[in-house]
Amino acid sequence: MIELQGLTKRHRAGDIETTALDTIDLAIEAGEYVAITGPSGCGKSTLLGLLGLLDRPSSGVYRLQGEDVAAKTSRELAAIRRGRIGFVFQSFNLVDELSVHDNVQLALRYGPLPDKAQRIRVAEVLERLGLAHRAAHHPSQLSGGQQQRVAIARAIAARPALLLADEPTGNLDSAHGQQVMRLLHELHAEGTTLVMVTHSAEHAALASRCVRLLDGRVLVDAHAEYLA
Ligand code: ADP
Ligand code: MG
Repeated sequence: MIELQGLTKRHRAGDIETTALDTIDLAIEAGEYVAITGPSGCGKSTLLGLLGLLDRPSSGVYRLQGEDVAAKTSRELAAIRRGRIGFVFQSFNLVDELSVHDNVQLALRYGPLPDKAQRIRVAEVLERLGLAHRAAHHPSQLSGGQQQRVAIARAIAARPALLLADEPTGNLDSAHGQQVMRLLHELHAEGTTLVMVTHSAEHAALASRCVRLLDGRVLVDAHAEYLA
């Protein structure tokens, strides 16, 4: 599903250049559940942003479902992202001017479904996440746990094959965090490939594979059976 070869990303802020990712080689098969861990600043979010086509590498190869994405235009990348990739962020990233329903429908806006089918899909996803009765609310009227469920609803509305989550429980109390983790677990069990950045060793242990980064490099890459 994902193939990275020598993937490198440098960030430039003024005249200071940081190598956030340093020649990463990584392959992730369809259906895997991978936790990305490592200390703050080691490149986790940069890696997820590249995987999610939100950003481009400085050098190296990224093949997504066999396709080299380096040569794509921004418009092509946006189209790939819309149909195949869902993103969940620590800070929810919802649009407060829009209702819960409209936030989720945003994910379908430029896709192939006509408006009526989009609304039906949104209603289905909100029902599934236990948010049907909050459809007309605005994000600021909801608890953090509910807001993150709306963000997950938005991420999965287009039924992406790949779901990326960057510290999805980072802003939640432990009960809501566990609810979000159960949901991600379910989505994985249904066949979604899941890549999740987490600080929590407990949450990382739920994944079938753990990739630990240090200073932009892969320090440990272990499948669950080898993790003690
Ligand atoms: P993590 O998510 O593991 O905390 P990041 O991927 O956010 O790490 O950051 C990796 C490194 O790249 C850090 O040194 C960070 O300061 C730097 N960095 C990240 N994003 C930018 C940016 N947009 N501009 C400049 N430097 C950045
Ligand atoms: Mg981060």
